[in-house]
Parts: sequence; C-alpha cells; structure tokens
Amino acid sequence: MRSHLCGVLRTTDVRKVVRLCGWVARRREHGEHLAFVDLRDHTGVIQCVIDNSVDVRSEWVIAVTGTVRLRPAGTENERLDTGEIEIGDCTVEILNEAEPPPFSVDDRDESDEPVRLRHRYVDLRRPRMQRNLRLRSRVNAAIRSAMDRQGFVEVETPLLWAPTPEGSREFSVPSRLHHGTFYALPQSPQLAKQLLMVGGFDRYYQIARCLRDEDLRADRQFEFSQLDMEASFASQDDVMEFVSEAVLEAAEAATGERPPPIARMTWADALARFGTDKPDLRFGMELIDLTAEFAETEVRAFSSPVVKALCVADGATLTRSRLDTLTDAAKRAGAQGLAWFRVVAAEEGGLALDSPLDRFLSEPERAAVLTKTSAAEGDLILAVSDEYRTACSVLGTIRATLGSPPVGEGPHRYVWVTDFPMFDGVGADGSPVAAHHPFTMPYAEDLPLLDTDPAAVRSQAYDLVLNGWELGSGSVRIHRSDIQSKVFDVLGISPEDAEARFGFLLGAFRYGAPPHAGFAFGVDRLVAILAGEENIREVIAYPKTQSGADLLTGAPSALPASSLAELGIRLAEPPVAPPAPPTAAT
Ligand code: ASP
Repeated sequence: MRSHLCGVLRTTDVRKVVRLCGWVARRREHGEHLAFVDLRDHTGVIQCVIDNSVDVRSEWVIAVTGTVRLRPAGTENERLDTGEIEIGDCTVEILNEAEPPPFSVDDRDESDEPVRLRHRYVDLRRPRMQRNLRLRSRVNAAIRSAMDRQGFVEVETPLLWAPTPEGSREFSVPSRLHHGTFYALPQSPQLAKQLLMVGGFDRYYQIARCLRDEDLRADRQFEFSQLDMEASFASQDDVMEFVSEAVLEAAEAATGERPPPIARMTWADALARFGTDKPDLRFGMELIDLTAEFAETEVRAFSSPVVKALCVADGATLTRSRLDTLTDAAKRAGAQGLAWFRVVAAEEGGLALDSPLDRFLSEPERAAVLTKTSAAEGDLILAVSDEYRTACSVLGTIRATLGSPPVGEGPHRYVWVTDFPMFDGVGADGSPVAAHHPFTMPYAEDLPLLDTDPAAVRSQAYDLVLNGWELGSGSVRIHRSDIQSKVFDVLGISPEDAEARFGFLLGAFRYGAPPHAGFAFGVDRLVAILAGEENIREVIAYPKTQSGADLLTGAPSALPASSLAELGIRLAEPPVAPPAPPTAAT
C-alpha cells in the first residue's frame, strides 16, 4: 500500500515519487487553493501540500501519492527531521474517516490519564507510547537472543494452575466443570520451572506472564512479565552471569550502549552502607556508623544499641518544617526520633553544630560527629539511634527521599545484592518467615545454624537492583529432601501441610532432582527505567488504573446470571463496580 514511511524521507529523496499512508496529524489552509497536511505514521510526520478542496481532517486515515521536493527557502522547519522537504503534486485517497480525537495525538498534550486510558488506541499513536512499546519489543528480542545463545530453551508453562508459594495474594479462576473448585493464576512459574529441571531441561527460560493480586503502585501491576529462568548443575555465579548477559544485552538494545559489568554487594553491606537491600548507587550519601563514638554517651537520644548517621551535602538550608516532616517519616518507619545537626562556622574558627541536641554532646562526641561524617559548612547531619536494622532502614528511607533522582533518570546503576538472610522476621505462629521462598538453599556452612540461630542463616539468594528498584530475585534451590524437611520444620510447615501444599513438587524431587538455581526479573520495570519513565503503566499497552480497573473495556465487570449459574456461583452480595475515574470522559 505504501512505498516509504513518513518520517524517514530526507533531501536525498527529492524528486522521488512516493506513496505514503498514515493519519492526518494537522491541516492548515495555505492560500486560496492549497492546504498543508502533516501526515503521521510511527516514524514521524511529513508535510504534504494538497488541493484544499480535498476534505481531510484530524486523524483521518489517508494515502498520499506525490513527489518529494525541497521546501521553499526560508520555510524549513528545524524541529522536524523531515523539515527540509515536503510532498508536492499530491493525490489523496481517503482510507477511513475519523471522529475528532478526544485529545490531540501529541506528546505535548497533557490530557488526563483516565481519558487517555479509555481511548488507549488513540493514546498509543503518541510518539512517547510508540517509542516505549517499540523499545520494549527490542528489549524482549535482545533477552530472547541472549538466552538462546547461552543454550536456554523457551518453554511455556500453564496459566491455569495450582497455587505457588511466593507470598502474594493469588487470582483464582472458578472451574465450570468442577463447581466449587478453582485454578490459581501463577504468581510466577516457580514450581513449573523447578519441575522442568527434574524433567531434564537443564536450561529453561520464558518471558512469562505473572499475576499477583496486590495493591498497585508505580512499579506494580496485577499482571507483569518476567524473564524467568532456571538452570541445572549451575551455581549462583553461573546464574548471575547468564542473567547479566541478558540484561546488558537488553540495555544495549534499548540505549545503544552496553553498560559495564554489574557490580556485586552483599545484603549486609547494602544495609550497612545504604540502609536498604535496594541501594540506589547513583549518588553517595552513605550511612556512617557512630556506635563506637557514642558507646559511653550520657545523651538519652543516643543510648540505643546503634547510632547511624548520614551527611546531606548543603542540607543546612532545609527548613524546620521540612526537618519535622523527615522526623515524622522516621517515626512512621519505626524510629523513636531523628536527630539533626546543621553544620555551621564556629565563632572561634572551624565548624560547629547547630541543633537542639548540641548542648548535650560531649566535646569528643561533637568532634566525632563532624569528622566521621566528613561534614563541611552548610551540610546537614541526620542521625538515628535504635536497633541495628531499624537505624539502617530508617536512614536508608531518608537517604532515598533526599537523594534519589527520578528512577528513570540516568546513569543506570545495576547491582547484584547477594547473601540475603534465609528468614525475615517471624509469622503469626512465632516461626521464622522465608525471606525468598521455602525452596531457597542456605549456605552449606550455615546449615548447623538452622537449629541454633535461624536468624543468622544466610541463603544463596540474590537480587538484581537498578537505580533503587528491585528488578528481580532468584536463588539456588534446595534439591535434597533432608534439607527441605529441615527448612520446612524451621518455618513451622508440618510434613502433612507440606505434602498438601507442594506434594507434587516434593514427589517429583524423589525421582532424581538435579542441583538447580534460577532467577526472574521484571521486564516492565527494566523497560520503564530504560525508557526514562517513572511508572510501568507507560510501557504497558493496556495497563490498569491504581484501583485495578481497565478503563478501555470496563473490566472487571459483573457476570450475567447465566454465566454465574454455569460456574455454580451464587453471589452473597451484589457486585461492586470499580470506582469511576476522576474526570468526565469524552
Ligand atoms: N519465582 C521468583 C520470583 O518470581 C524468582 C525465582 O526465584 O526464580 O520472584
């Protein structure tokens, strides 16, 4: 239907006769007999000079046949890649008329998101959405090619399946054939891929759809895609190498530049230095330990087991009300308080601390605060005294609040975080809770600690983090039933319970399970950051709103009584429609 794409024509094409297809981006009358039509396809726009008796309007779909020519001197448009040329002597064929669009198909148009989502097919024509989804396609292709090259086999696993023990709420699908029973939509193909290892597919991958019924936020949708992989006879180093290759190749496909090899950091180091297991390495502001310096302190605010601090460069200008807000945030995050010190010039020369707490500090404590933080005049020092985990994580949150640029803003700093604790806190029954999932292998040298000090057991689990967002996680799996029983025991999962919940996996493991390890990372998150976006909705063709509604189709919606009957379902309460979006639709 067409000979060229609109946005790729240049002065080298002058005198060519071309046939272009696309949408009318704009029409301007030009004198008595002519009109300018900007014709748009996904590559850009080009100006076509048409007879003004031809009726074409915004977003009509047309084909234009004409000759490429230079624009008259002085009328070039520098903002357009095609701005030096235009199409003259045009004949226009109208392929389809269109109603006026609900918003202009233009990145500068700031129309409300609900209106855009309701008319997503128009929104998708915008350059930004075209760019993002095409970037996503390049990322997917690069991932597939990297995995393929490394000998991985793509295997599809079921969407209608049994529950997966990953810790999120699951979506359930009622069975029509067996009333009262339900399939679970997979939170991930975790169990399926481990079974593939038993089945002899020693390198598996899939760009898998995962479904989790959790509250939505900037980096979370009900359904998302992961590069899911698993390998037999592979160590955690092998897995990190395989995944690094896919991620770096994807980044190169998206940005044109291959990032350097991905750095590694232990979980303990990440917590001590950045106060989080998702460190944003785009800036410093590392946590500083002042515990030793305050060991003998008389100051009650610093008498908890640990004192941690951070130094905010030029932060002394933060207003009192901003400091109060930070203090409230610290308290909400579990700290008893937040101490702050403005670093000012001392009258007698050198530096002094301006803070309500300053007069309580001893001279050595004051000196330590200044020297250990390497503070300079005009800086702000923030400190938290608490239990170790709380002191670190509260300051980690404040560090991110004060220092983190928008997530999609460069540079892209990837980091592997390794050696996670095996357990994270305790559940309602007092048993430790698995930090990753119950099939994660502890370090061999930590196995004896399962009996004596479970909190100190490190697991062979690893996360991949980019600019403070967790891209994904994985682990070496337990393939031996004696270790698995021991871990279930510590987790408070009885043999009967384990059999009922994952009997099919444990059963399979009796038939020759190889040692195996794997990983999964979120493609939506990676693509959003590579595209410079803050919200994964911008890289998903048909995303849901914060309240879980699909504004295009109206899902979720009530089922007709006949469908409910077929499924054997009687509603206890009338259906509750999702809340209406905040703006009126066109
Ligand atoms: N199934 C895990 C997840 O979705 C990843 C893995 O352990 O391979 O987070």
